[in-house]
Amino acid sequence: MRRKFIVGNWKMHGLREGGTALASDLAGRMLGAGDVAFDMLLCPPATLIHTVVQAVSDAPVSVGGQDCHGKDSGAHTGDIGAPMLADAGCRYVIVGHSERRQGHGEQSVEVRAKAAAAHRAGLIAIVCVGETEAERDAGRAMDVIARMVDDSMPEGATAANTVVAYEPVWAIGTGRTPTPRDVAAMHSMIRGRLATLVDQPDAVRILYGGSVKPDNAASLLHIDDVDGALVGGASLKADEFWAIAETC
Ligand code: PEP
Repeated sequence: MRRKFIVGNWKMHGLREGGTALASDLAGRMLGAGDVAFDMLLCPPATLIHTVVQAVSDAPVSVGGQDCHGKDSGAHTGDIGAPMLADAGCRYVIVGHSERRQGHGEQSVEVRAKAAAAHRAGLIAIVCVGETEAERDAGRAMDVIARMVDDSMPEGATAANTVVAYEPVWAIGTGRTPTPRDVAAMHSMIRGRLATLVDQPDAVRILYGGSVKPDNAASLLHIDDVDGALVGGASLKADEFWAIAETC
């Protein structure tokens, strides 16, 4: 049985005061709620990792990075090594987010190296894949995602060290989402693809991401093979993020 997983990607948002307040608020809700039907992960910007780790230390809330380098250390100004994230208290790291693929020209081969680096550091990699609007309009979404999954998964990926996030590029931050039917078809295809890449593909969590909000969360999170959500904008407001989680 796969437990639902609700992930907040704060992107390049947040200073110490607001980040601490948001993380503490969510930690308090998790503690107050007791038995919940989901796991929660917060991925703040690197500057807030330490602060957020402290703010959630008493609560069942994990902390993750938003990216890491494919090498463990070295002359890579501005980058962060996976061992540094682990050392700072992270359990997870997002790799291959479309804002990295598009804004920084990252290819799947690099994403694969980043996921492998995450594993070496003992982190769980959240490997993101997503098609552009042009690719979907051209009827190529399935092929593009199949290829991205194949090329982004490192050797040794397992259900214990890897999560997949399907995030159509055109749905991120736009308020648009694919139909539940399209999401179901894509997640099912991804799970089929994982059968050739990982042991126990049925145990791998596959998240949906792209304009998940309180009002559409239930329709997306209750689809077969959707094991949770990677949430951007709505993860910056405790009420909205919590409302999404509560639909699990
Ligand atoms: C994201 O950044 O991964 C994301 C899904 O953003 P949003 O929820 O704002 O669309």
